[in-house]
Amino acid sequence: MSPIAYAIPIFMLSIVVEYLLSRRRAPGAYDIADGITSLHFGVLSQIAGAFTFFLTIGIYTWTFEHFRLATLPQTEWWVWLFALLFYDFCYYWVHRAGHEVNLLWGAHQVHHSSEYYNLTTALRQTATGAFTAWPFYLAMALAGVPPFVFGVVALIDLLYQYWVHTQLVPKLGVIDRILVTPSNHRVHHGQNDYCLDRNYGGIFIFWDRLFGTFVDERDDEPVVYGIRSPLGSYDPVWGNLNVYRDIARQSRAAPSLAKAIGVWFEPPAGRGKKPPPMREDFRRYDSSAGASARRYALWQYVLLIAPATHFIAIARQLEWLERVQYALILVAWIWSLSSVLEARAQSRRVETLRVVATASLLISSASWFGLAMDIIWRAPFALLMLLPLWYLYRHDQAATPTPSSRSSISA
Ligand SMILES: [Zn+2]
Ligand SMILES: [Zn+2]
Repeated sequence: MSPIAYAIPIFMLSIVVEYLLSRRRAPGAYDIADGITSLHFGVLSQIAGAFTFFLTIGIYTWTFEHFRLATLPQTEWWVWLFALLFYDFCYYWVHRAGHEVNLLWGAHQVHHSSEYYNLTTALRQTATGAFTAWPFYLAMALAGVPPFVFGVVALIDLLYQYWVHTQLVPKLGVIDRILVTPSNHRVHHGQNDYCLDRNYGGIFIFWDRLFGTFVDERDDEPVVYGIRSPLGSYDPVWGNLNVYRDIARQSRAAPSLAKAIGVWFEPPAGRGKKPPPMREDFRRYDSSAGASARRYALWQYVLLIAPATHFIAIARQLEWLERVQYALILVAWIWSLSSVLEARAQSRRVETLRVVATASLLISSASWFGLAMDIIWRAPFALLMLLPLWYLYRHDQAATPTPSSRSSISA
């Protein structure tokens, strides 16, 4: 069972607590639609992970078994400490390359596409990162760090970074200069001039101090979160693909094959160019979806937590075809909700179809992807999906889908 499945209740509970505390202590830290979108990105990332673990763990294990130069004993405590430091060092470079090389930015930009900063932002993870990150960690396999130790320290590094995505924790003094903390990671998510390409660390921030990329959070300049080429959408599928599309267009327009390939390895702003300036009139993305559509999406998202957690827990034990079917049900769920949140034309009809199809499948199947569920459980869950549809229609009739707008930063 994936250990991430165990962390999900802690994630959800801490998000609710942070949301409630933020209303007084950090107004504007949360937006429901943005928060749901960040969590959708997280689910999509985990779905992708169910199909790409051969890249993250498989190639590592194969390299360890065939090419390791030593064998570090996993029973020794210092091996774990060494592995954690080694992993965090590699993470620094994969993260830095994620900001400095187009091909890797295409994957990593997902994490920066929110214009809010809260615990949901931590879960806004890429679905394509596994394709490009794995070579950075192979040095650990060559050095003889056993795959089990590698897997555990990778998980520790990932989970550690969760708590730093908050505006509720102030500066922590000397700790801000040793560990990655909310203060120095807020800087990393900023689009202010002083924030760009700074504070890449995972657990330890001293890598940034060592390699000249560290900067302290400023008290006199509020961090403006997000990126200078904004996503402007709640669609997590598009959010994962849009930058690749842009790079592919640049590549196609290149005058030679060498330049067409080179574009993928240039910095995101272009070779020798500066990124576009931060907009003075910057406003955070918002859509014309009404309050009832947002509440509806939140309700369907809460329901999604159950099958998403189940999928994350058991995906690797499913047959390939079943895994694909389950993943498609969840992707349709997420994508349709993003359409509702964006108030796209036909979104209510598409969502109705989606809900009816999913509920019908749930009621008609004796078991749900290996989970034996009595009809006493399946029927109420299907009803909880179907009943809110009246709310989506009844209350949203006045909300005509209009082009998306952007909300004020002070919202
Ligand atoms: Zn980053
Ligand atoms: Zn982050």
